[in-house]
Amino acid sequence: MTTAPLFQRVALIGFGLIGGSIARAARAKGLASEIVTTARSPKTRARVAELGIVDRVVETNVEAVKDADLVILCIPVGACGPVAKEIAPYLKPGAIISDVGSVKGAVVRDMAPHLPAGVHFVPAHPVAGTEHSGPDSGFPELFINRWCILTPPEGTDAAAVDKLRAFWTAIGAKVETMTPDHHDLVLAITSHLPHLIAYTIVGTADELGEVTSSEVMKFSAGGFRDFTRIAASDPTMWRDVFLNNKDAVLEMLGTFNEDLSKLTRAMRRGDGEALFDHFTRTRAIRRGIVEIGQDSAAPDFGRLSAATPKKP
Ligand code: NAP
Repeated sequence: MTTAPLFQRVALIGFGLIGGSIARAARAKGLASEIVTTARSPKTRARVAELGIVDRVVETNVEAVKDADLVILCIPVGACGPVAKEIAPYLKPGAIISDVGSVKGAVVRDMAPHLPAGVHFVPAHPVAGTEHSGPDSGFPELFINRWCILTPPEGTDAAAVDKLRAFWTAIGAKVETMTPDHHDLVLAITSHLPHLIAYTIVGTADELGEVTSSEVMKFSAGGFRDFTRIAASDPTMWRDVFLNNKDAVLEMLGTFNEDLSKLTRAMRRGDGEALFDHFTRTRAIRRGIVEIGQDSAAPDFGRLSAATPKKP
């Protein structure tokens, strides 16, 4: 179903998994009269032009934001500050400027000082993704039934927040607002720490002796395979996440280490009851996630359905 355009011109800076998915979804829903995009490298820009998903591909960030009513930075967290500085003088008065970064405190810290009065800054984080990246990796259903968290600074124009909320809702997301710090704490445990653990386990397996490590690949069971999928996520994106959400991740890591010690102790002491109770509690959390439609109970650990989420 298409909707009346919410925006005349939408500019997407960066066209990878997230930018490409926004473009595909917004186009499918008719949310913008014109979608303009740019990417850092000529190679990506050429590929985007070839894909024919957007109305115009331009060479520079400054050209992209010209007369745009909505500008979304779809680039790594660490690049948001410098790009905000570059485009700030060229933003249309009254425009909404947003991003999709997985960390919010640092993005607000780095972008806000550059933005002129008269544009509306509404940071956002769609909590949806895959381990793939680049211009071919996006798909229009990525955000369906997934959360998009908005973290508008205090005093942001309510109409601008509502308009961005309407945009994300139209491409299938459920929208919630919270403070950047709260976002960073929640995501530290639900996303950032799990990635850190996956990167660690897969790295550890890789450092085993050559014979053993080839056996790890050959006999990789579901648990290890799922870790390898997460550990295949984009290195630039995740480097920036850990550099920019350091405090919250370190806090969660402290709690995690304490809990790991408790389980280690239970195992060493042969305390089956403690292990059983813990695993029963965690099983209930998994069931809860499936019940609220945030994953599927399909036996492949929901991988297929995560790529094409269905409404509950
Ligand atoms: P991606 O597929 O790797 O695409 C990144 C895009 O940013 C590319 O167009 C790239 O251009 C451009 N870019 C990279 N470095 C840049 C720089 N220094 N300056 C300007 N442009 C730069 O990444 P993605 O997965 O879409 O992630 C983009 C953002 O979404 C990140 O902030 C990430 O935290 C957030 N996010 C990701 C996920 C996920 O699961 N992947 C989920 C939610 C939010 P070239 O192709 O020309 O290099």
